Amino acid sequence: MTAYDVLIIGAGASGLAAAAAASERGLKTALLERNDAPGRKIRATGNGRCNYSNVDAPRSAVVVERLRQLAGIEPAVEEGRIYPRSFEAATVAEALANAASGADLILNARAVSAEKNGGVFTVKTEDGRAFVSRALILACGGKAGIQYGCYGDGYKLAKAFGHSVERPIPALDAMVCAEDLEALHGIRALAKATLSMESGISCGGEFCSIYASGNAGADSRERPELPVSEEGEVQFTRNGISGICVMDLSRYLRLQAGTVYILSLDFFPEKTAEELEKMLTERRRTFGTGLKGLVPEKLAEYIEEPGKGRSAKDLSFIVTGTRGWKTAQVTRGGVPLSEVDPETFESVLCKGLYITGELLDYDGPCGGFNLNWAFLTGLAAGGNAGKED
Ligand SMILES: Cc1cc2nc3c(=O)[nH]c(=O)nc-3n(C[C@H](O)[C@H](O)[C@H](O)COP(=O)(O)OP(=O)(O)OC[C@H]3O[C@@H](n4cnc5c(N)ncnc54)[C@H](O)[C@@H]3O)c2cc1C
Repeated sequence: MTAYDVLIIGAGASGLAAAAAASERGLKTALLERNDAPGRKIRATGNGRCNYSNVDAPRSAVVVERLRQLAGIEPAVEEGRIYPRSFEAATVAEALANAASGADLILNARAVSAEKNGGVFTVKTEDGRAFVSRALILACGGKAGIQYGCYGDGYKLAKAFGHSVERPIPALDAMVCAEDLEALHGIRALAKATLSMESGISCGGEFCSIYASGNAGADSRERPELPVSEEGEVQFTRNGISGICVMDLSRYLRLQAGTVYILSLDFFPEKTAEELEKMLTERRRTFGTGLKGLVPEKLAEYIEEPGKGRSAKDLSFIVTGTRGWKTAQVTRGGVPLSEVDPETFESVLCKGLYITGELLDYDGPCGGFNLNWAFLTGLAAGGNAGKED
């Protein structure tokens, strides 16, 4: 059995960054990855373009510079979002794997247990192999994007060392609505989307049972007060609403029995209700048409359907949840940040244990914040793990 200085579980964004930083320090490092290739999720990020940081993300300048030094990833900035100069996610995955090539990459190795005895970590894999090390980095991600190998294994591994886990919830995802949206399916339009909440509601409707069962996820943490608004393109599907602004708002859902969330769309945020009404009245008188020509035709017909009382300033939908772990881009919840050192991400409960990336209870909006976090924490852990006392 080979003994390592640093053992890393997970060859995703944070694990590869940690491996590159640890092997740069001359430490004998190994990466255990359950998939048959490293960095599978990285290849799918940013619609294949890998939006890996953002000028407003925590310590993004440091992250970008370190990735440039270690892996040769040159940045290109587009409206604050940072991409690789190639705008190709695959090149980031390859550059990171290359930067981590000083570490032993052990594929098809799903870690199922980890423990520390006499200052030594022992990690066992599903197929019965055992690995020992002086330091251990848990970089196994959360549960978002299960098809890329993320089944939440990290939570069990962290709990084995006494860590707590804030309930994982799918975030940065489309919202599913109670209404039948067949008539709007496929429509894209610019809008100001507002998420609000009504509490103390007791109802026997179908969607309330979804809330009560917690299917859509419930947790106790505080978030900024609702309502919260975001502007951008919204996209209707048969049963829900997507688009970056809606995905960002999904981070604020805290579904629980007795609470109803409403997503309201304003297709004319630049006008007051009176200004819009005046414009529509004039258009009807002069051109014989109101909303048609101002918003997509099917949307205009839906809003102006007689007897429904719908408004282009406040088109509201009851939110029953998000689509789930296959489509969510990030996990909300995980190991609380209070349980790791804020600079090195070493566990405050177990010396030599580090926890990085999405496994921690951090989630950012769309735009490069989550990969920035994975790289920031991975680089810090890899730069500190295995130091002698
Ligand atoms: C479709 C999609 C697009 C995204 N686009 C962006 C974007 O453009 N910008 C952005 O900032 N964020 C984006 N994200 C989010 C970002 O990819 C994640 O937040 C980030 O990859 C998390 O990094 P991580 O290292 O913590 O986990 P991951 O990258 O998920 O890596 C975890 C690794 O651990 C492995 N693993 C898990 N359990 C075990 C085990 N028991 N044993 C061994 N290996 C294990 C997994 O197979 C995986 O390879 C996107 C996410 C998705 C799903």
